[in-house]
Amino acid sequence: MGIEPEDTLARTFRRSAKVYERSFPEKLANLLIATFEAPVYIGSDAVEHLSRNTKALGDWVRNNKEDLISRKWVGGQGTVHIDNRNHDYVMLDTAPGKNYFVSDKWPQKMNVIGVFDHEMGHLLVDEGQKLGHHSSECAADAFAVMRHVQRFGDATDIFDHAPAFTARVAVLTSKIHYTSIAMARVAQLHRSGAVDIARLSLKETARLATEIARGYSLEKRVVDKIHNAFSPARALYNDVVTLPIVKKVVEILAEKKDDIDIWRAGKLFLQASDTRAFLQQLQKDDREVQNSLDLLDRHEKEKGWSLDDLERKPAPPRTVFAEIKSWFLEG
Ligand SMILES: [Zn+2]
Repeated sequence: MGIEPEDTLARTFRRSAKVYERSFPEKLANLLIATFEAPVYIGSDAVEHLSRNTKALGDWVRNNKEDLISRKWVGGQGTVHIDNRNHDYVMLDTAPGKNYFVSDKWPQKMNVIGVFDHEMGHLLVDEGQKLGHHSSECAADAFAVMRHVQRFGDATDIFDHAPAFTARVAVLTSKIHYTSIAMARVAQLHRSGAVDIARLSLKETARLATEIARGYSLEKRVVDKIHNAFSPARALYNDVVTLPIVKKVVEILAEKKDDIDIWRAGKLFLQASDTRAFLQQLQKDDREVQNSLDLLDRHEKEKGWSLDDLERKPAPPRTVFAEIKSWFLEG
């Protein structure tokens, strides 16, 4: 199996992988990158070994592709064992996928390349290597968003679209992929001028992704709490967002209005490109939803909550201790 086909995405991956390998030779010399069709890049130390094992390599591409499709994943990363040797791999679906990073207004290849950079982030960012952990997904997504700015500039809708779309993923499917806050932190650093992302080297980008993941990922209990809160909406989901799902999210938000974590995830969800139209329709036609949204508006103003404020506030002190103390004093 040769390195084919020569489509532009395969070319982009190959060219980009060379640049990545030059910056991280110690991590990537053994790398294998494949699309669902064929291998497209083999790291310099792996070329000889894999060209001796083309049949095993071809079998692996087919099997791994099936595995990713069955999980509904558009990309994956891990280790492949071929003829007594392990290779890190990244595999990507090059078909127009989901709007993870930019909306339909932008070339869909940007989303596929975003998934590529996300998977590379798992290999290159220190905090990205704990597969299956929320902070690792935050690291990979922070890396991918910064790479997007380095590749395409900041005029796409990534900073508005990606945090909202990712909250949608968290509410409806995968809890560890709730990386909206880490993505919003990249936007904040960029927009405030604190970091000139376009000028960072790949190593600096990887280091900053670790810092962001450590500072802006959530504790497991918070990720679980958000996931559990939205389970009634998730129960209605079958691959597409519908009006009843959006209505259910508004209901949940009104019911849990004192929880800033649930509020943030739900508010972002309501801004996602495929939920906004339903929300507008509900705002027009549904009295109950209108009331809930008004209540939420007043409530967040009272609390001073803003989606731009990314620092997590400590929980308010519990008054129960004061009460106990006064009983002691009285006793
Ligand atoms: Zn990932």
